[in-house]
Amino acid sequence: MPDQTQIATQQSAPPVAAMKMRKADAATQARIAEVSTLIARVGRRNQLLVKVTTEDGLVGWGESGLSGREKSVAATVDHYAGFLVGQDSRNISRIWQESYRSQYFEGGRVLTAAISAIDIALYDLLGKRLEVPVYQLLGGKQRDVIPTFGTTMGNTKEQQLKDVALLVEQGWTCIRTYPGSFDDGDVFDPRATLSQTAEELMAIRAEFGNRICLGVDMHHRYTVAETADFCAMMPKGTLNFIEEPIRSETPEAYAALRKMTDIPFAVGEEFASKWEAARFLDAGMTQYMRLDVSNIGGFTEAMKVAAMSERHYVDVMPHNPLGPVCTAASVHMSAAVPNFSWLETRQTAVEKLGYHDASLFPKQIEMKGPVYLLPEAPGLGVEVNEDALRKQKPEHVEGPHLKRPDGSVTNW
Ligand SMILES: [Mg+2]
Repeated sequence: MPDQTQIATQQSAPPVAAMKMRKADAATQARIAEVSTLIARVGRRNQLLVKVTTEDGLVGWGESGLSGREKSVAATVDHYAGFLVGQDSRNISRIWQESYRSQYFEGGRVLTAAISAIDIALYDLLGKRLEVPVYQLLGGKQRDVIPTFGTTMGNTKEQQLKDVALLVEQGWTCIRTYPGSFDDGDVFDPRATLSQTAEELMAIRAEFGNRICLGVDMHHRYTVAETADFCAMMPKGTLNFIEEPIRSETPEAYAALRKMTDIPFAVGEEFASKWEAARFLDAGMTQYMRLDVSNIGGFTEAMKVAAMSERHYVDVMPHNPLGPVCTAASVHMSAAVPNFSWLETRQTAVEKLGYHDASLFPKQIEMKGPVYLLPEAPGLGVEVNEDALRKQKPEHVEGPHLKRPDGSVTNW
C-alpha cells in the first residue's frame, strides 16, 4: 500500500503522455514557417534585415553585415530558406552547422553574412520564446554596461581636435580617429595621407595627454612598407592601437609588419569564420579582435572566436557600423564575453549617420553617455517598424572607387 505522500505525488505529477504531447506541441510551434529578407535605405546606407517567423507567429530579426552587397546576401538567405522552413528554430547551433556544411563550396563572406543574420534572428526568437534577453542564452552577463569607443569625423586637424574634445566632454575615454584625408574625393594618395594622419594623432595626444586611449582606423588602405613608415612617424606612446592598416588576405604580410612596429594591432572585422580568426590569433598578429557578429557567423561563431581570443589574452573589440539590430546583437554578445575592451558605436554627437532612426526602430538599445545599457526585454530588445521600413526603398550604393593620383585603382 502506498502512503499518502506517494499518492499525492502521483496525483500532482503530469501523466507521461501529456508531457510528451506538450513537448511535441512546443516543437511544432517553434518550427520555422517563413524566412524573408528586407533591404531598406536607412541613413547613408542600405540595411539588410532577415525576418524568421515560426508556426506560432513569433518573429525574430537579424541583420547582415556585408554592407554594399546586400542583394547577394539576400539571394543566399533565399537559398537557405529552402531547407530552413519546417525546422525547429531552437536548434540554432545545428542550423549553423547545416547552413555552413551542406554545400560543396563552403564559407566566404556572402554565405557567412547570410548565416549571421539568420543566427541572430534565431537567438532573437529563442529569447522571446523563453522570455529572456539574448545575453542570458549566451551564459549570462559579465558586465552591467557596455563601454564603447567613439570615432572622429573631422576633415582637418582642427576639426579632429574639436571632435575629440566633444567626445571627451561627453565621457568617452577611448577614441578612434578616422583620418580626415580619407574622405577627400575619389583620389587617394596613400603616401600623402600618412604625414597628415600622423600630425593629427600627435596633436590629439599632446592636447589630451594620456587620459585617453587613442586608436586610428587605417581602413586597410596601405602596404606593409607604408604602414611601417607611418608607425615610425609616431613617437612612442602616441597610439594605443592601429586598426587594419593592410588587407587581411595574407596573414604572413601581417606577420612581417608585426616585426616592424610595437603598436598593437586591431584586426578582424573582415573575418568570416573562426578558421580565419585562428590564423591571426595563433600567430599573435592581432592584439584586439575586431569581430563583426553580423559577418563572422552570428552569435554561434562570434562566441567561439571570443573564446579563442581569451586563450591568447586578446580582448574583443567588436565592429558595429550598421543599424539597431546589429548594435543590439553586438551589445548582447559584448555582455556575455569576459575578454572585452570596447564596442564600436556610431551613435555619438560627432557622427550624424542616421542608421538608428527611431521612426523605423521604435525600440532600441539605449545609450547613456559612452555606454550601452543592457536591455531586460526578451530577445534582442529591438522593435522593427516593418511597414515603415518597407517604404524605405533601397538605393544602389557603391563604396568609393578610389584611385591614386596616377589613375590606378586603390583600396577603399
Ligand atoms: Mg575598421
